[in-house]
Amino acid sequence: MQEKELWKNTISCLETELSKATISTFFAGTELASFKGGHAKIRCPNHLSANYLKTRYADFIINTINTLSGSSCSVSFEVRKITPKKVHDLGPIFKTKEQSGLVSTYTFESFVVGLSNQLAVSVAQAVIEQPGNLHNPLFLHSGVGLGKTHLMHAIGNAIKQQNQNTRVLYSPAEQFTNELIKAIQSRRPTSSFRKRFRSVDVLLIDDIQFLAGREATQEEFFNTFNELYLSNKQVVLTSDRHPSEIQRLERRLVSRFSGGMITDIQEPDLDMRIEIIRRKAAEKGATLQEEVLLALAEQISGSIRQLEGILNQILTIASAQNVTPTTELVSGILQNIPQSKKFISPENIVSTVCEHFSTKPETVRSKKRSRDIVLPRQIIAYFLRDLTQLSLQNIGEMLGGRDHTTILHGLEKIENDLTESNFLKNQLEALRVEILGKTS
Ligand code: ADP
Ligand code: MG
Repeated sequence: MQEKELWKNTISCLETELSKATISTFFAGTELASFKGGHAKIRCPNHLSANYLKTRYADFIINTINTLSGSSCSVSFEVRKITPKKVHDLGPIFKTKEQSGLVSTYTFESFVVGLSNQLAVSVAQAVIEQPGNLHNPLFLHSGVGLGKTHLMHAIGNAIKQQNQNTRVLYSPAEQFTNELIKAIQSRRPTSSFRKRFRSVDVLLIDDIQFLAGREATQEEFFNTFNELYLSNKQVVLTSDRHPSEIQRLERRLVSRFSGGMITDIQEPDLDMRIEIIRRKAAEKGATLQEEVLLALAEQISGSIRQLEGILNQILTIASAQNVTPTTELVSGILQNIPQSKKFISPENIVSTVCEHFSTKPETVRSKKRSRDIVLPRQIIAYFLRDLTQLSLQNIGEMLGGRDHTTILHGLEKIENDLTESNFLKNQLEALRVEILGKTS
């Protein structure tokens, strides 16, 4: 069998095992470069697809080629060469990952692809292949908790992975605004602010709807955008709605945003919800029975963030009771779990966390900076950010008039510690259950 035909047949066989979305997203543009001496060399259009195929589908591919060719083979994956882009000198600010603002766990590998986000993922892939060239800007929009932020970080991480020297900067629009205000208020020239946002190769601005009605920030962002755009730097934006539906956003910005690619993410269908729950449970080392997966996926629709939150609560409760989750347990818990959009009072968060750490709200708001006070303070900020609509500034005010950047650093610290400490993770999950439980 010719290589070409063998690969075509392999993909046809894989189509019976994997979803169409997976095939069209991660196998598009792949080919069997050579098949000699029992070794199959598979060429992929980019690192993302190569990594994905290698980590997830290597066994599938080997088994299928073995069956089709009647021999026993090994595989390797390589990336098709593209002409390297010009690399600029590294600015001092962009040496480490942390300064790019990227969360390393938000990758394509941990992103489930289904019908609802397939288009967004393919466009994102095109951006990774040719940043600044194909879809500029890329504008992603969807309701909350459907994966915009995750996908945006995944783009940044994948571009970094291709070339560590590419300067990527992720920033929520709120942070862009706050930093600008601070630069203006400090009466220092805004040049260092400008340098930070304009000397990048890839700029990722999350939740751009935050700029609505903020004229000075819009003006600054318009200039930032133009400068990057004119030098072919990639800009990726997200929003909770289509640019034309963002009220009080200047027409010239709407028109810039519409000049590239606008794509949305829809709510996940049942199959995708099942797959997401399966994967998130596996990430936590839990395996759920199929009927339990189905029960959960059927009863929770809408946001993936909510799906994840409820799964975490179920796993926490099951482990606290030392039982494996059954459909009965799931239904019992779901009845008691407040479904989305319930109002969670900030005071409830403060008092629950304080109680847990045997401290008082006054102490948390005080100037004290000992470790036993800093941790509950940061955890309160974390839940205020996660469960309420408060801005970083509001949170700073609630916590004794602290600066929003202090709050942001605290949040980053917790997010970081969470990836390393299971103890902290369990502690936060238990607290979350307690906070949500009190909100009925
Ligand atoms: P948004 O920015 O649209 O509000 P996020 O990107 O913050 O949503 O996603 C919310 C949560 O759901 C995150 O924990 C994210 O990892 C998870 N999530 C969203 N979409 C997916 C997906 N397709 N696969 C896996 N996890 C997802
Ligand atoms: Mg988001």
